[in-house]
Amino acid sequence: MMKIVYLDVDGILLDFNSYIISLYEEKYNYKFPKGYLPGSWGMTDCIPGKEIAHWKDMVPEDWPSLLKSLPGARDFIEKLRDIEGVHIILVTALNQKKQIYRIKNLRELDIYYDEIFFTGYKQSKANLIEELNDRFIDRYSVEKIIFVDDKLYNCVDVLNKFEFYPKCKLFKVYSIDMPYNDKEIENSILKANNKFKVLPNYNELFETILKDLN
Ligand SMILES: [Mg+2]
Repeated sequence: MMKIVYLDVDGILLDFNSYIISLYEEKYNYKFPKGYLPGSWGMTDCIPGKEIAHWKDMVPEDWPSLLKSLPGARDFIEKLRDIEGVHIILVTALNQKKQIYRIKNLRELDIYYDEIFFTGYKQSKANLIEELNDRFIDRYSVEKIIFVDDKLYNCVDVLNKFEFYPKCKLFKVYSIDMPYNDKEIENSILKANNKFKVLPNYNELFETILKDLN
């Protein structure tokens, strides 16, 4: 029996957010309140009175090799790997030139997984997930599928695809409470779809997934 876990990387396993925040603090000599996260990653109005650059124009070429893991992420992956039948697939949006840095970063952080797939920025992850699901479902007996992403639109896309073929015993989509997700849309999906859940913090997110798979 196979259990597939699709995990996003930025914002689920690696701390993209605090890396970008510290970059802004250094460049603009500004201190954000503790725990600050912007409402959007354009960062256009996050430092009062200052015209600021987009993060993509500020980061070095090898930025995906410089991230730290989120608290509990490595431990979570290790626990996942101990569960029989679990297949860990990372699905991350990154352009081709930077993919090698991401792989290097994950290796240096001792985060081990079975496979990694890349999509382009703003490209839906749902088509890829559907292809992979079909591949696995054709060849193995897939009992459970879980998809995890911090961006609401990725969760919505995957939920929409799955309406048509939930062939396995358990299918869940999880996200985490983030200011850059639209609360109204989030609440309406939560009401409409019992396969979707937004967890308040990483600890609860990781515990929930482990409970589902054990
Ligand atoms: Mg993400």
